[in-house]
Amino acid sequence: MNNSTVISVKNLTKNYGSFQAVKGISFEVYEGEIFGLLGPNGAGKSTTLEIIETLREKTGGEIIVAGYNIDQDVNAIKRIIGVQLQTSGFYPGLNLTELIHLFAGLYNEPVNPGELLQLVNLEDKAKNKFKELSGGQKQRFSIATTLINKPRIIFLDEPTTGLDPQARRNLWDLIRDIRSKGTTVIITTHYMDEAEILCDRVAIMDQGKIIALNTPDHLIDDLVATGFERPKEVKQANLEDVFIHLTGRTLRSE
Ligand code: ADP
Ligand code: MG
Repeated sequence: MNNSTVISVKNLTKNYGSFQAVKGISFEVYEGEIFGLLGPNGAGKSTTLEIIETLREKTGGEIIVAGYNIDQDVNAIKRIIGVQLQTSGFYPGLNLTELIHLFAGLYNEPVNPGELLQLVNLEDKAKNKFKELSGGQKQRFSIATTLINKPRIIFLDEPTTGLDPQARRNLWDLIRDIRSKGTTVIITTHYMDEAEILCDRVAIMDQGKIIALNTPDHLIDDLVATGFERPKEVKQANLEDVFIHLTGRTLRSE
């Protein structure tokens, strides 16, 4: 992996009135990695993400994205990042092709809707409206909208929450696909299995602080080194394995 830093966050704080939601966190994201921000609800993941996405003001700290300081070069940062748009902006009367044209117009960026839809496996839905899509398809379309401006970095906030097991796996494949083309991915999740499989490195957040940051392997090895032992698993598979085995992992059942 290329270890050049593409995002640097130092002593980031965020106050909502007298409540401090982010309490001085520091971390770096490397170019080309899938970086996971993990933690329970309320940990401060979305706040952190939205500040880096330039959608929210920070209270304190320093953020550099691809060499640009967020205090000075907001527009330069906006040009190179991909952010999931609010699905409430997906006008119900427009089909997917029309929506892509609309968003491309906002970015002032030429786009080939067919190519973009193919990338997220929705080419046969080009003439469908957003509301006609399944949950997994909606998420894939929303990820497609992050790619319109050909960003260096994309931000995905809980993209798999509420999806069924196949749709989650399809989304993992899509995210890996995007990364394999050189895009850095920052993702939040509270599914640890997902983070373990998908992320190169993870930061675990709790109550506004980062309490651990490393590769999933390292974090697990560190825990094992403390003498921790997991209650023995008697079975070689779990119910989710049964479900996937029976129903397959293709797009058909989404
Ligand atoms: P996460 O994404 O990890 O669930 P959030 O960043 O959404 O966490 O929220 C972190 C904390 O900040 C929570 O306690 C939440 O209630 C609070 N919070 C988030 N947004 C606001 C806001 N606009 N005003 C006040 N408090 C907020
Ligand atoms: Mg959140």
